[in-house]
Amino acid sequence: MKLSIIRLYHDLLGTYGDQGNAEVLIHRAKARDIDVELIEIAPNQIVPRSGNIYLLGGGEDGPQVAALEMLRADGGLNYAAAGGATVFAVCAGFQIIGSSLDSVEGKISGLGLVDADTVYTNAPRSVGELVVQPTRGDLPVLTGFENHQGLTQLGPDMPALGSVLSGTGNGFNRTEGVWHGNVFGTYMHGPALARNPELADTVLQCAVGPMRPFTDSLAQELAAERRHTLTGN
Ligand code: GLN
Repeated sequence: MKLSIIRLYHDLLGTYGDQGNAEVLIHRAKARDIDVELIEIAPNQIVPRSGNIYLLGGGEDGPQVAALEMLRADGGLNYAAAGGATVFAVCAGFQIIGSSLDSVEGKISGLGLVDADTVYTNAPRSVGELVVQPTRGDLPVLTGFENHQGLTQLGPDMPALGSVLSGTGNGFNRTEGVWHGNVFGTYMHGPALARNPELADTVLQCAVGPMRPFTDSLAQELAAERRHTLTGN
């Protein structure tokens, strides 16, 4: 199998460095001798229907709505996700894969890959380190950097990625992110998969199945340093 990773619109959704999530997945896949290709999709290019992992990053309010409209018109991401493709979406990306979100035009529909509504409130912007206790999977405490105005309420049946130990995350009930089937959303930048190698492997495994262990000592040290600095553990 050739694992194909689709990086979507990083001209529009690349403000926060989340494009690095692709490099982390490639690095960790190659370490297991998995044949992997990165397909870069620019705005207005057709989104492949048969990718294995689709990545969306953070972005400003205007570009994020432009990205949403293009993805909706294209239909490829929804098609792939309905077929079980893995999706990892950060911040603006997380907001646009939800069911609805506030915009300057008022409430608009998202792509609906997950049941999540994003609202913009008068609360101060959430900026800073985010620490998350995962609620599923065999994952350690996760960390990332958040920077967002929108807050995201998950539907009643939507599992969060974790619960917030410090920071804001989704901003409702101390939830952070979403993990529904093979679709992940998170407010963690960093890039998130560079700071959380076990989460990177969880995302990879959704696409390729069980993998042999791989320890990247630099990545482990970075994750441990962030955890220690932020939690004391
Ligand atoms: N524009 C969105 C917000 O402020 C997303 C920001 C981001 O992607 N970091 O909520």
